[in-house]
Amino acid sequence: MSTPNVEKHEFQAEIKQLLEIVIHSLYTEKEIFVRELISNGSDALEKMRHLMITEKNVFDSDLELEVKITTDDTANTITIQDFGIGMTKDELVKSLGTIAHSGSKQFLEALKEGGEKNANLIGQFGVGFYSAFMVADEVKVYSRSWQEDQPGHVWTSSGAGSYEVEEVEGQRRGTKIVLKLKEDSKQYATDSSIKEIIKRYSSFVQFPIKLNGESVNTIDALWLRNKSEIKDEEYTEFYKFQANAWDEPRYRLHFSADAPLAINALLFVPNENPERAGFGRIDPAVALYCRKVLIDPKPDELLPEWMRFAKGVVDSEDLPLNISRETMQDRSLIQKLGRVITKRFLKFLAEEAKKRQDQYQEFYDRFGFFLKEGVATDFTYKDELSKLLYFESSAQEKGKKTTLADYVSRMKEEQKEIYYILGQNRESIESGPYLEGFKARGLEVLFLYEPVDEYVMSNLREYDEKTFVSADQGDIKLDDVAESPESGGLDETESEALCKWLKETIGDRVKEVKVSDRLVDSPAMALSPDAMSSQMRRMMQQMGQDSGMPNEVLFEINPRHALMVNLNAQRESNADLAKLIALQAFDNSMVAAGLLEDPKDMVSRMYEILSQASEK
Ligand code: ADP
Ligand code: MG
Repeated sequence: MSTPNVEKHEFQAEIKQLLEIVIHSLYTEKEIFVRELISNGSDALEKMRHLMITEKNVFDSDLELEVKITTDDTANTITIQDFGIGMTKDELVKSLGTIAHSGSKQFLEALKEGGEKNANLIGQFGVGFYSAFMVADEVKVYSRSWQEDQPGHVWTSSGAGSYEVEEVEGQRRGTKIVLKLKEDSKQYATDSSIKEIIKRYSSFVQFPIKLNGESVNTIDALWLRNKSEIKDEEYTEFYKFQANAWDEPRYRLHFSADAPLAINALLFVPNENPERAGFGRIDPAVALYCRKVLIDPKPDELLPEWMRFAKGVVDSEDLPLNISRETMQDRSLIQKLGRVITKRFLKFLAEEAKKRQDQYQEFYDRFGFFLKEGVATDFTYKDELSKLLYFESSAQEKGKKTTLADYVSRMKEEQKEIYYILGQNRESIESGPYLEGFKARGLEVLFLYEPVDEYVMSNLREYDEKTFVSADQGDIKLDDVAESPESGGLDETESEALCKWLKETIGDRVKEVKVSDRLVDSPAMALSPDAMSSQMRRMMQQMGQDSGMPNEVLFEINPRHALMVNLNAQRESNADLAKLIALQAFDNSMVAAGLLEDPKDMVSRMYEILSQASEK
């Protein structure tokens, strides 16, 4: 076999692993290989269509842009040919010998987590070209690049560890894949079975597909058709085709506009959020077309980044076919188009939130993160996005969420600010000291559980002209509570003296000690002196960043609490213990505020207090 121009190559290790699974998988829907190979052909044709616009010297430039399939049930083969851009020798080696395809990558990731029993996930991820090895025991890929000076090659493999590449004469432009079918896959060598598979999976391909000489698809740009004539199933099928998805879409928005730009758009929101399932950051996937011609399948400047969960198609007649990201004019045109679509999409979501609340909540639970990311990173849609946000709050039962508008409608007459508090979860917020003062005054506080919420608040700043204020911030002035607290606490002079002593005892770590107007059940609390909340500070510290502001803490005490009453007495009777207790109370409040950096002293001091207490 080793003629001088045959080159033997090993597959990359990942590909070997993938092939091993593909070949031995018991995955029942092996027929998806037809979809994968047709879609590769279609991609290559799409690229060719673009090159035709810009390149003068194209090899075989008179060929039709189409996919040709032939079956031969005597030889047991199926051949899938496209007249697309083809591959040079280097491209053959790189594209078919190493892992590039994101579906294959995700598939391998899923396998790592779930073991081989996940092999039936093949259909969900689509292992691209390698799916051919599910049905064939030999695959030959003949390819000739569009570049005139590049010769044709044939790539051959049985899928077992290696492949060979050899130069061939007489090759037309594009790629021809010949599959020698396995014994148990002979059905794919018959015209009727392939026709059915194409109808099922590839009806939206934008190029003619010819099966044994006969055209089998109608080229249909669903998004250009009249809404009222499209059935739900057609939309769903289109979504599955376009997004390479297997689920049903959660939302769909089909609209057209004439001004300021002529637009036909069909957008989908998938059922699940793959980022939440741990599959890493998703690529933008709303394809850009101009009059049915694909301009860019994954334009990254069309829609804002946080819209990356959306799938679908945007078609605008106003775009030039040879649009270029390098020219300012074209870029701003794409961005303008994107703004119109984003605004329309946000309006759609707002309507849905109103009309079908439960359904919207389900969407929000899965995709709300993207909306928050939008508020946190993009000022353009702040107002629209802020109306779509939902939070738990002290006035709602657990699990129920409120909009900011509803919060505002419940605000007390004299209330000017919107209060929020960031915490791990509802329990930790409710058991902390910060809520008490608000509760006692009947003020509602929003509960925020995600790190991104802090950025959301600091970017929004206000809603309906009401400023957002973190409940653990030091400079909030709350009105006096109407009924004065039960007696038995320290009086004003005693409280002041205690505060003064505490400041001296704690020293530089505290900026000021004062009597709290917020505390009801807790003995004390630590507060950030500025707008940057303690949670934010902690997050920045964790990220190794300097929070940029002096960490000066306010310490507020509750003079009605038994601990403070006793402490005040003890600083006369048992000064040593009183000092320990003061420091410990301060550290406790720092822990609750998320401000304690080094718990070392705290632990040893705690033992000291315990041993003193156990002496009695
Ligand atoms: P994907 O299509 O998602 O990139 P595949 O495994 O299906 O992954 O294909 C891998 C790569 O091989 C493609 O990205 C492309 O570069 C190349 N390729 C496959 N089929 C063809 C074809 N018919 N014409 C040109 N290039 C192809
Ligand atoms: Mg592919």
